[in-house]
Amino acid sequence: MKAGQPAPPSAVHWITSRLEDRGFETWTVGGAVRDAILGRPSGDWDLATRATPNEVRRIFKRTVPIGIEHGTVGILKGGVLYEITTFRRDVETDGRHAVVRFSDSIDEDLARRDFTINAIAWHALRRELRDPFDGAGDLNRGLLRTVGTAEERFQEDYLRILRAFRFAGRFGLRVDEELFSAAQTFSDRLATLSAERVREELLKVLDADPDPTVALEAYRTSGALAVLYPEWARRMSDPDGSTWWDDGLRVMGHLPPGRPSLRLASRLRGVPAADTAALLVRLRFSNRMADRVARIAAARALPDGGESDAAVRLWLSREGPEMLAPSARLELASARAARAGPSPDEVVDRWRRARAALRARPPLSVGDLRIDGRRLKGLGLRPGPLFGEILEVLLGEVLESPERNEPDYLDRRALEVASEEGEASPRE
Ligand code: ATP
Ligand code: MG
Repeated sequence: MKAGQPAPPSAVHWITSRLEDRGFETWTVGGAVRDAILGRPSGDWDLATRATPNEVRRIFKRTVPIGIEHGTVGILKGGVLYEITTFRRDVETDGRHAVVRFSDSIDEDLARRDFTINAIAWHALRRELRDPFDGAGDLNRGLLRTVGTAEERFQEDYLRILRAFRFAGRFGLRVDEELFSAAQTFSDRLATLSAERVREELLKVLDADPDPTVALEAYRTSGALAVLYPEWARRMSDPDGSTWWDDGLRVMGHLPPGRPSLRLASRLRGVPAADTAALLVRLRFSNRMADRVARIAAARALPDGGESDAAVRLWLSREGPEMLAPSARLELASARAARAGPSPDEVVDRWRRARAALRARPPLSVGDLRIDGRRLKGLGLRPGPLFGEILEVLLGEVLESPERNEPDYLDRRALEVASEEGEASPRE
């Protein structure tokens, strides 16, 4: 085994001792143990114990009932929430969720976990590793295997297929052959998973994976993509579809982790707007995120150096100033990934120029105009759809030359536009 002992925060020792002192066997389990063996920083430290949730709640003062029905109690210590889950075993599974019973054995608890690398326990007091399926060996060999046969484990919970691709990508593991062929066999069953679970899996890939290419390619080659993301599969069947897919993966490789909506938007570039909307709605993204992702995906290219300042303001007005940073980051990633098109330096220049334009705080929307409906009424014009048209015309002129945003100019032009549009001349 490579790197060795996990180094958890002292709260893990403290929680473990309190439980063990009262006779309840307690282990550190799951992702943190795996990450420590890989020599990577661990995220959440999860514990598994023989104590029941009620016993845990009696022993600790500050607890949070995270998922009592699943046996999980949160313990707050030093501002951090640690999850303590009673040992469990599966008694019934239907591919969508498992019915579990409490168990008194850590080995049973490990046996119900998905992959060997996730089925390792570590005892914080005895500093002892419990690794019944040789997960540490698999980490050393760079191999992802299920605990038990892949066909059976996937039929218990099809989400494990997607989890496999995520872990393989994140840790650079080879996917065991039997696992991959089981994934192919059951890919059509992924349709039974809830939108939330599918979405969260994708977001984890996009958020945390240094290079989501491996996971997304596995989605594609296993058939999962066609089932879960038909919009992408359809785009891929276009004549330039495979170039589109590969280019998109390369672009993603230049977008750092931690910005899932940007990576998602990059993957949606070139997908018809109606398909993008369908995908985002089906996966029940929040309105806020769906809107943001769709807008970044559809944003026009930033004006290049040869275009006028007015073109830059027009871009900011159409896309919205908040789209500047995400669009520029995406264009920069595309420039880095591609041999053709503007160079990264050129994109940086465009971005700088647009930022400078923004700093001058130019009027960019109808609301920024120094004229409004009330004033149009004051000029004697009759309220109606014409008001909107007039304000749009004025905005266009002000984007052209921001100094036109003055009441005198705007009043005069409003009246001219109104009479051109056939409005009766203003009352005397
Ligand atoms: P991450 O760093 O992404 O959080 P993790 O391994 O901690 O990775 P979690 O989803 O937080 O993953 O789950 C914690 C542990 O619970 C896993 O390591 C695994 O042992 C077990 N587990 C989670 N989901 C499943 C599942 N669908 N089937 C079986 N075991 C699971
Ligand atoms: Mg975790």
